[in-house]
Amino acid sequence: MEIFDMREFDAHELVVFGHDAATGLRAIIAVHSTALGPAAGGCRMWPYATTAEAVADVLRLSRSMSYKNAMAGVPLGGGKSVIIGEARKAKTPELFEAFGRLVDSLGGRYVTAEDVGTTTADMAHVARTTRYVAGLGAAPGVAGGDPGPKTALGVLLGIKAAVKFRLGRTDLAGVTVAVQGVGGVGYHLCGMLAAEGAVLSVADVRPAAVQRVCEEFKARAVAVDDVLALDVDVLAPCALGAVLNSHSIPRLRARIVAGAANNQLAQGQDGVALHSAGILYAPDYVINAGGIISVAREYQGGATEAHVIADIQAIPARLTEIFERARRENRTTNAVADQMARERLGRRPHKLVA
Ligand code: NAD
Repeated sequence: MEIFDMREFDAHELVVFGHDAATGLRAIIAVHSTALGPAAGGCRMWPYATTAEAVADVLRLSRSMSYKNAMAGVPLGGGKSVIIGEARKAKTPELFEAFGRLVDSLGGRYVTAEDVGTTTADMAHVARTTRYVAGLGAAPGVAGGDPGPKTALGVLLGIKAAVKFRLGRTDLAGVTVAVQGVGGVGYHLCGMLAAEGAVLSVADVRPAAVQRVCEEFKARAVAVDDVLALDVDVLAPCALGAVLNSHSIPRLRARIVAGAANNQLAQGQDGVALHSAGILYAPDYVINAGGIISVAREYQGGATEAHVIADIQAIPARLTEIFERARRENRTTNAVADQMARERLGRRPHKLVA
């Protein structure tokens, strides 16, 4: 595997492969940039079919964390880790302790937290063997804990900024929103949207998760295959990456795409297709920064939940700046965000698509 030549490599500072025979741990840590501080990003547990797939994913996610952290204004660089394995079957406390030792061996260049497939309980095991971990349980009123609700708050505020920019509306009463994925973030987002009067359509591969949201927030259940193509004001992808691609974009009927999922665009070019279709895209790593803002405050220590919420309230202004600049310069919002992030990282511009 020619890692240095991979498109996703993008001048990563460090990539570490870790193995622990006793627990079966197979993990990769990628540190994209420590220019702004220790590289921070969650640990994903996923049953990758091949090592090449795991490497590509960790590199892509790690670079996104550099961009996300730079744009969120937190004093952290970008990194990410993956544990290769089936989260529902292969988890043990010892596995996460072994992962913690791997994190610790980097001496603080990388700080981990939970991500898809890992939880605050898993991070508690990691914390037994390293102090370079956040996203642990927090006492009420103190910064930290599950980042999901904080990510949801940032997405809600981002949706409001996008609705104001694209639809000229200052409230969400009657605004139609389709939410793909009602897990840790999507569930809380639905609650917040419903409280503001938005009309919800939801889809998830887990029927019980859909039923809960329908009962609690009067959402309408739609089929997983249909949610992306609904005629709604806002589509909020809160499940998987790469949902915006050459196959899905021609089917979209939403005016705005603004959701929590990481790496929503399959390729940078897909931003051009959205732009051409008149769909306003809120760059994922800008709108979904609430969780990392919480993690950053927790890791620094001494902060309250009110500090975290105040930081998250800066997300809509950041998005509006991107929307305005994209309109002024007739460019895609993702290209504008990438350029702003790279300027903050002190990196040379990469090949921009628009
Ligand atoms: P989660 O695993 O709790 O929820 C994801 C949900 O999507 C699950 O309910 C799952 O059943 C559902 N899903 C999976 N495939 C689907 C499909 N094909 N169609 C519809 N639903 C499907 O994860 P989460 O923590 O809520 O994160 C959601 C997304 O947001 C992920 O892409 C994650 O990387 C991103 N994100 C999360 C955070 C955070 O703080 N948790 C922060 C930033 C970004």
